[in-house]
Amino acid sequence: MSMVDLPEQLGETEQAIRETAHRFAAEVLRPLGAKLDKLSAEEVIAEGSPLYDAHRQFRELGFTTLRSETMELSRADTVRLRAIIAAELAWGDCGLALGLAGSTFPPMIAHMAGRPDLGEQFTSDQIGCWAITEPDHGSDQLDFDGSISATGMDRGRPNCIARKDGNSVVITGQKSSWVSNGTIAETAALFCAYDDGGGGEMGQAVFLVDLKDGGVSRGKPTDKIGQRSLNQGEIFFDEVRIPIGNMAVGPEKYATFVDTLLCGTNAGMGASFVGVAQAALDHAVAYAKERKQGGVPIFQHQSVKARLFEMFRKVAAARALNQQVMIYNATAPKPRLELAIASKVTSTQTAFEVASEAMGIYGGAGIMRDNPIEMLMRDARIAMIEDGCNDILGLMAAERL
Ligand SMILES: Cc1cc2nc3c(=O)[nH]c(=O)nc-3n(C[C@H](O)[C@H](O)[C@H](O)COP(=O)(O)OP(=O)(O)OC[C@H]3O[C@@H](n4cnc5c(N)ncnc54)[C@H](O)[C@@H]3O)c2cc1C
Repeated sequence: MSMVDLPEQLGETEQAIRETAHRFAAEVLRPLGAKLDKLSAEEVIAEGSPLYDAHRQFRELGFTTLRSETMELSRADTVRLRAIIAAELAWGDCGLALGLAGSTFPPMIAHMAGRPDLGEQFTSDQIGCWAITEPDHGSDQLDFDGSISATGMDRGRPNCIARKDGNSVVITGQKSSWVSNGTIAETAALFCAYDDGGGGEMGQAVFLVDLKDGGVSRGKPTDKIGQRSLNQGEIFFDEVRIPIGNMAVGPEKYATFVDTLLCGTNAGMGASFVGVAQAALDHAVAYAKERKQGGVPIFQHQSVKARLFEMFRKVAAARALNQQVMIYNATAPKPRLELAIASKVTSTQTAFEVASEAMGIYGGAGIMRDNPIEMLMRDARIAMIEDGCNDILGLMAAERL
């Protein structure tokens, strides 16, 4: 991998962690992602699927517990290392990398909410998910403060409602077909409407839910064009009763919490799709040096070199922006969502453009189903919708300018 951030900027431990991430990406995630891409959505998650082994191996690497306090690293160095790990894993396979990252949502939410008690119950030993979008509320759910909604318009009834009932909360309804890990998750960080029983307008709240509880069922795994190694699907709640203490964030703090969370998820997507863009660039450079036309490797043709440079320039710019945003948001008194969104949009757009250009560099070979480039292009296109459509995120960011 021809990385732009300099290895000499990293200390010995950081360099070793990066190498571990790269090895895991190259030896486990990349071959497994290519294999799962060709299976049906049901086969990907069938009992005995190597997907579960990837989850197990990932846990053993200990990346999920990287914190500046335990690493004796500054916050800036810690987030830079996290960005590097995310890029490395997605360089291997972004569907798997995002499924692994999404799996840690419930314990991460417990940590962010300052609820170590919930953190003990919702651990990263279980496959978790982030259930926020609903069949009738995709962009609406991510636009947590209504900043892009038409003025005075009613968004309509939520598809999932948590109702207070004494010391319990009873959840009824469903989440969308796009919940990552949706049909395999054992736990969920559920973001949904909250009816406190007071008769007033419903707010939104965050709950940690054990999906092994009675009343939970799942839809069919979603069949889609890209990131096929990432399981997605609906979760249905039929009067699922959980303790009121499982409310990690109440309505009064919901908007502030989601703002901070989206700073993290958007920057995380920014880091991951730097890795996807880098993967496409690496393939294109290698192929250009091997494929001969006009008597020489096509790399020797100036126009091919110029195209490769354009791709390289875009990847370098996306990576630099991502690291800058990660570090700023981790060290500034208040993270800025517009910066995190700038990174997500830049990286996913870059990954799609670079993968598309890489397909051009491969010529006819690029359109073959066993060629890695066509998969990267499908994976990257999906990312421009994943965790918020890029245009919607752009509108949300613009509101903050
Ligand atoms: C790979 C992937 C992984 C995902 N993972 C998760 C997950 O883990 N958990 C989860 O809960 N969800 C997840 N999602 C769902 C994702 O967040 C939504 O798909 C996304 O927010 C868009 O919502 P939607 O699909 O309902 O589209 P819609 O909101 O219906 O949007 C359709 C179109 O209308 C436009 N539009 C919508 N509202 C406005 C507006 N106010 N102004 C202007 N234009 C508008 C949009 O830009 C888009 O072009 C995932 C999606 C993908 C693709």
